[in-house]
Amino acid sequence: MKFATALVVTATLAAAAQAAEPRDNVASREKNMKTNKFALAIHGGAGTMDRSKMTPEREREYRAGLERALKAGYDLLKSGGTSLDATEAAVRVMEDDPNFNAGRGAVFNNAGRNEMDAAIMDGKTSNAGAVTNLWHVKNPISLARLVMEKSKHVFLAGEGAEEFAKQNGVELTRDQKYFYTESRWQALQRMKANEEGGGGGNKYIISDEDRHGTVGAVALDVHGDLAASTSTGGTTNKKAGRIGDSPVIGAGTYASNASCAVSATGDGEFFIRATVARDVAALMEYRGVKLLEAAQAALDKAKKLGGEGGLVAVDRAGNLALPFNTSGMYRGHVDSGGEFVVEIYK
Ligand code: ASP
Repeated sequence: MKFATALVVTATLAAAAQAAEPRDNVASREKNMKTNKFALAIHGGAGTMDRSKMTPEREREYRAGLERALKAGYDLLKSGGTSLDATEAAVRVMEDDPNFNAGRGAVFNNAGRNEMDAAIMDGKTSNAGAVTNLWHVKNPISLARLVMEKSKHVFLAGEGAEEFAKQNGVELTRDQKYFYTESRWQALQRMKANEEGGGGGNKYIISDEDRHGTVGAVALDVHGDLAASTSTGGTTNKKAGRIGDSPVIGAGTYASNASCAVSATGDGEFFIRATVARDVAALMEYRGVKLLEAAQAALDKAKKLGGEGGLVAVDRAGNLALPFNTSGMYRGHVDSGGEFVVEIYK
């Protein structure tokens, strides 16, 4: 296995891979079984990323975090594990990493609390689990999985979701300091001050890093099954109770063996209205559009409404797409070839 710095734009890679894709779904499935092909793509949020503000040390931390997440998923996929397990494992690593806006590093809402959302979807069965407005769950993605597997519901919120967590032995932290990161707290103060100052934006420059971020993973396993996982703290200074696209099935998260698995990141309100993740799948399912083209079209639709961001997606032939319409997206991918690629900027 080797870590490589990508020299080519990921989209170009994906396009090249797609040119070789067998048209027939059955043929690609058989190919997967024979070759033991698997693929994994992750993201750690998209937005305006100013290289001049990124110190070499920060950049190393982000890259190392992404590599750790990729490695967790890769190890499972390589030993025949499922795409569900791999995406959950990759997301858990990023939830535990204070640099990413999910789990431990979640941003603060306008009440000064960390309020988290997550969703997971199994492409094989179309089962899904989602949780929102969590305050004490260290790994929201694993609670989403439990909702999928141990309840008859898809979506649980707030106190009910945390009660369900307790009943199922999920670790809840009573110490809110676990979720405290100084930089996220300062970001909330800057945004509040900006609001008070009329939001003119001249005095306080609000960077995208201050505002949002999300983590996600999509995978194809050697059994030919797809899965998607997404987890987030949402947006800094969001109203208490606000829910973004990440836990909404079909908006920020979607997976179906009939088409692809998608995890999105971006301006949640617009991604919900544009049903971004489901649009990628629907274009493939109903129109036979290829993965990258479908992903691009779904992002374009959100952008027309006013929302920017990106997504990671994989189809059953193992093609990957990691498009975004911001200046950067923390992202990475690896497949059965074992070459790890981690990128931040365009
Ligand atoms: N989509 C997330 C939300 O709106 C934020 C992000 O991905 O940047 O909650």
